[in-house]
Amino acid sequence: MIDKEKIAKAVKSILEALGEDPNRPGLIDTPKRVANLYSELFSGLQRDPTKELSTIFKDNSNELIILKDLPFNSLCEHHLLLFDGTVTVGYVSNKLVAGIGTIARSIEILSSKPQMQERLTKQIAELLEKTLQPSGVAIVIEANHLCMTINSPQAKESTLVTTCFSGVLKDSTSYREEFLSLIRKEKLNE
Ligand SMILES: [Zn+2]
Repeated sequence: MIDKEKIAKAVKSILEALGEDPNRPGLIDTPKRVANLYSELFSGLQRDPTKELSTIFKDNSNELIILKDLPFNSLCEHHLLLFDGTVTVGYVSNKLVAGIGTIARSIEILSSKPQMQERLTKQIAELLEKTLQPSGVAIVIEANHLCMTINSPQAKESTLVTTCFSGVLKDSTSYREEFLSLIRKEKLNE
């Protein structure tokens, strides 16, 4: 369980270490607020993403399915600062498909813990492999990291892209090219 009281105490210590007065009106409730916020932002530590992927439908087709540009946010484990962007999920179904909402919720759980973008990418791929047993998986995450840009305004425009390909989406050029051309397409109405 997340120990909110311990987080609040630690935040108070940080304020004291900074030479601030944690009892002044503006800061008096800050430790409690941060503790509540952290327990939400890190709630994925207490939840099992495979449970979210329980809404699975039987489907006899073997199709490439792409869920494009799902927004996500997470905290990097090196600085506990925000990184956010989009996740694109692709898989070639093998008799099982998952509801869109269930994939989105499981990504939200995997994001809600101290994370690294590279690991998150791999964990989403592994979760789909485990629950849907697809013929192949492709994950692409594009994100901006506050820890990269906060001290360096020229890094503002830089985006970190991470990928994970497996199965036919890794080994078959035609599947991989179909996936890449579909995700490169301009958004409708743009
Ligand atoms: Zn960082």
